[in-house]
Order: sequence, then C-alpha cells, then structure tokens
Amino acid sequence: MFQYCPTCGTKLVTKLAGDDGEIPYCPHCERFWFPMFADCVIVLVANAQHEIVLAKMPYLSKQYESLISGYIKPGENAESAAIREVQEELGLTGESIEYAGTYWLPKHQMMMHGFMVLVADDQLNLSDELESAEWVSVEAAPAKMWPASPENAALKVCQLYAQQIK
Ligand SMILES: [Zn+2]
Repeated sequence: MFQYCPTCGTKLVTKLAGDDGEIPYCPHCERFWFPMFADCVIVLVANAQHEIVLAKMPYLSKQYESLISGYIKPGENAESAAIREVQEELGLTGESIEYAGTYWLPKHQMMMHGFMVLVADDQLNLSDELESAEWVSVEAAPAKMWPASPENAALKVCQLYAQQIK
C-alpha cells in the first residue's frame, strides 16, 4: 500500500471508493492509489509437431527449465508482449497466438498472462538472457520443469496445451 502519492509526494489519506472500501487517496492529485502489481506474459511456444520450447534462465534455476516470460511494457497489450518476447528471447516469429488464462503469483505480486504461440520456423536464436533452450515433446516437458504448485503457471499452461492437442 502506498503511504505517499507516487506522483506528487503528498501524504495519502484514505477515502471510500465505492465497493472497494477505504483506499489510499491523494487530495492534491484527486486520485485513488489502488495496490499496484506487475503484469507479465508467460508464453508456451509450439511448433507444428506439437513440440514446445523449454528454456533455462540462470538467475532462476540451475536445474529446472521453464517457458519464456517477460514484463508487459506500458502502452503495450499482452498479446504484443507475448509475440515480442518470443522474437527477442528465441528469435522466432509467432504465426498465431492463443490465450491461456491468467495466473496470480503472490510471492512476486505479479499477474501472469498465459499464451500459446505457434511458430512455423523452429530454428532457435537465443538472447543472452537465456542459458539454453530446447524443443521437447509436451509429454516430456513436465519432468524437466519446476514441480507442480499452485503458483506454477508454466506447468498449467503446458497442461492446457497438452489437453488441447489430444
Ligand atoms: Zn498526488
């Protein structure tokens, strides 16, 4: 919760905001400051053979692989962010995109927007951010990923994809 207005620095007061209850409010800017969180995309990249990309990010884990992910930039929609991340991290062009749900990560106060992106050319050209990436069958993927947990959005998107291609 904000104590001071992020725009002008005025100490916030609380004010009733309809059904949302008491919310920090800046009397100078005349606006409410609802809790803020980051919006990210988590993207399953698939080819025509139903293989998916699992990538390793050294700052996340030495052991486990995951789907690619990234922050949505201000002014960008979630779909564009997903396509951009696929291009930036893997050097692949998304041919089609499908929504795969949203997932709240309490630990990092993040809203993950899940997507499944189909690519035609599957030649990987990795960014420096990734240690490695590989194509794996969707059946083999879970064993290489973080164990299942309520927070494991990547695994949930994988399961959704596996369900879809049955
Ligand atoms: Zn203010």
